[in-house]
Amino acid sequence: MQLNPGTEYLQWFERLAKQHIVTQNFSDTSCLSKNITWDVLRTDLIHPVCSGNKFFKLKYYLLDAILKKHTRITTYGGAWSNHVVASAFAARQCGLKSTGIIRGESPEFLSNTLLEAAKQGMELKFVSRNNYLESPSANVLVKEEYIIPQGGLGPLGVKGAAEMLDYTLKEKYTHICCASGTGTMLAGLMTAASFPNQKFVGIAVLRNTGLKETVENLMQNSPIPNFEIIFDYYFGGYAKKNEDLISFMNSFYVLSRIPTDFVYTGKLMFGISDLVKNDYFPEGSRILAIHSGGLQGNNSLKTGTLRY
Ligand SMILES: *Cc1c(COP(=O)(O)O)cnc(C)c1O
Repeated sequence: MQLNPGTEYLQWFERLAKQHIVTQNFSDTSCLSKNITWDVLRTDLIHPVCSGNKFFKLKYYLLDAILKKHTRITTYGGAWSNHVVASAFAARQCGLKSTGIIRGESPEFLSNTLLEAAKQGMELKFVSRNNYLESPSANVLVKEEYIIPQGGLGPLGVKGAAEMLDYTLKEKYTHICCASGTGTMLAGLMTAASFPNQKFVGIAVLRNTGLKETVENLMQNSPIPNFEIIFDYYFGGYAKKNEDLISFMNSFYVLSRIPTDFVYTGKLMFGISDLVKNDYFPEGSRILAIHSGGLQGNNSLKTGTLRY
């Protein structure tokens, strides 16, 4: 008997998540001197490119597409998008065809990310920056396509992200921290809050003054726990970086053996480390940092920038 494609996908999902996700302790000297514990939820270990928060955020979009009998998903992103390449992988697991609408003119050479997506069978269409997303109807929509919003933003993304905390002892922590782009992951984690005084901290990776409101809206009817979004660690904007960030990521790796990416999780860990030093977290805090993956994005850096 043939399993239906949704069942097979769910089995693949469960198997990867259960086999690979671990909670790893990282407590540096400033943590120890303040009696703070800092753990990292390693969802980056799930898969080299279909990792972390994209793996979780895609789950319910894909199941919905299957349920509604679509044969193809279409989604959006830039040339180094974690979301685009993760969508290509996960769609293939579901037996769905995929299209990626890529921001920018067709390049002479494809990025590693797009090469990988194409290898998974994703059809790539380039849309100039002016037309990109401004007019979805121009983006060659046909009926059998199921649209997954850019970055997995939306209620189905929230539902998937909430499950990230099923793979650790979430009630152990006073603070749960994650990098925040669209805010979907943060909203998801917050719907899975385990006690009223647990605080959620989003480290914004870009300047987005509406982020707090977006997160609150994404929570829909769930009770909103204590949370704060911190805008001190975005390093000039989305995918921007400087020497301080890169050297922090290198020393964080040397101390913890945890690789981070420069767009999201490097900024998150930098932020937490700085907040610990500045006494943002009370003595005795138990911090969980979500390593949301995204390491494939480091391929856009010059070789030798990172020690891993
Ligand atoms: C996309 C992404 C995020 C941001 O998640 P949002 O739900 O958009 O806030 C964080 N970390 C990684 C590694 C990502 O790829």
